[in-house]
Amino acid sequence: MDFILLGPPGAGKGTQAKLMIDKWNTPQVSTGDILRAAVREGTTLGVEAKGFMDRGELVPDRVVIGIIAERLREEDATDGFILDGFPRTIPQADALQEILDDLGRNIDHVISIEVDDEELVNRLTGRRMCKECGESFHVVFNPSAREGICDRCSGELYQRDDDKEATIRQRLTVYSEQTQPLIAYYEKQGKLRRIEGTGSIEEIFSRVLKAAGN
Ligand code: AMP
Repeated sequence: MDFILLGPPGAGKGTQAKLMIDKWNTPQVSTGDILRAAVREGTTLGVEAKGFMDRGELVPDRVVIGIIAERLREEDATDGFILDGFPRTIPQADALQEILDDLGRNIDHVISIEVDDEELVNRLTGRRMCKECGESFHVVFNPSAREGICDRCSGELYQRDDDKEATIRQRLTVYSEQTQPLIAYYEKQGKLRRIEGTGSIEEIFSRVLKAAGN
């Protein structure tokens, strides 16, 4: 199965992707995670991407399209993948279609997770992530057992620079201007499945399963 998870920042795409990996045994491909790793490692890609990310803007299409073109050709993605955070613009969606045509495959489901803006701001300002393994927590809704320390790997938790309120508002504006048009784009192709993104993680996952025909 080839999936796209669509939705604004903080909708829970990463959280649902982790559950989907276990169910379908396919990798999560998150352009945000790949870019953050590049920033941490100080690679050329990271240096180029960092300013855009810190300002809550999108990294240029040619950069992320290059990342995805390479990543989807890797061996672990041959039986399926879960795209999380890509595509985010119409040119990215068109480029994805070309990459998939080349590989002789097709997207099965585009799952759009819908959450309203004020809820997203609450979620993102409280979000904390593990520096080591990328696991995500929330100071109120999903706190770690020991403050500031990851439950999974004991790594240090931190607040992403782009999870500060002003940057979050900017990311939401970017989402509605540049990414939301993808909803109509995939609706026209008959691939869009909308799900409500509030409730417990398990409730939302059962909607994901239903949307995917399970
Ligand atoms: P995310 O973790 O998906 O919220 O992504 C964090 C940041 O990485 C975004 O605010 C963008 O600056 C950048 N980014 C991630 N995915 C993309 C993409 N598909 N296109 C452009 N920029 C991206």
